[in-house]
Amino acid sequence: MKKIVFATNNAHKLQELRQMLGDRYEVLCLTDIGCHEDIPETADTIEGNARMKAEYVKEHYGYDCFSDDTGLEIDALGGEPGVYSARYAGPGHDSEANIDKVLKKLDGVKERTARFRTAIVLLQGGEMHLFEGQVEGVILTERHGTGGFGYDSIFQPIEGDGSTFAQMSPEQKNSISHRGRAVARLVAFLNDQQ
Ligand code: IMP
Repeated sequence: MKKIVFATNNAHKLQELRQMLGDRYEVLCLTDIGCHEDIPETADTIEGNARMKAEYVKEHYGYDCFSDDTGLEIDALGGEPGVYSARYAGPGHDSEANIDKVLKKLDGVKERTARFRTAIVLLQGGEMHLFEGQVEGVILTERHGTGGFGYDSIFQPIEGDGSTFAQMSPEQKNSISHRGRAVARLVAFLNDQQ
């Protein structure tokens, strides 16, 4: 089985990817390769951050690798929080505080369109490949649902039955989500190589 490193320690993302790749690849995470430090994510685009993480792993650990980065872009806020989605309300990566900040900034705003965008960068055999996925939706005025994570409870995708991501099953969400779509493109690329 071929080995490939996913530059993450997020158990949820790892499981999702392992499921989609089947048994063709052994997917290692950062802990598996002995990488315990915080990898810098200081680029000003999600593509830049994904690339930075993948290049760090290649440079310091020598593995072919892929990495993802996601941002929520709200049109009425000029694309914020974007690349700063994880730490919009401060360095604590507090999802509830991030949601509160978004709801406050959008208070009274009618135009509430937004999208999640994911970039995945794969470094393989000295080449770089970029896979993207996005989903359009609107930001609701209050939270709905308890599933998912991050901004899920205030994001209602246009496709679907009016549920927020936090009201969907993981399978439902993955089938239309930004990350689900980017991962599907990565998986199709990797499986084509077999
Ligand atoms: P990451 O690049 O996947 O770590 O995502 C950065 C931030 O975007 C996360 O900390 C979340 O706040 C938000 N985010 C990413 N993916 C999702 C999602 O699927 N639903 C809701 N929020 C998300």
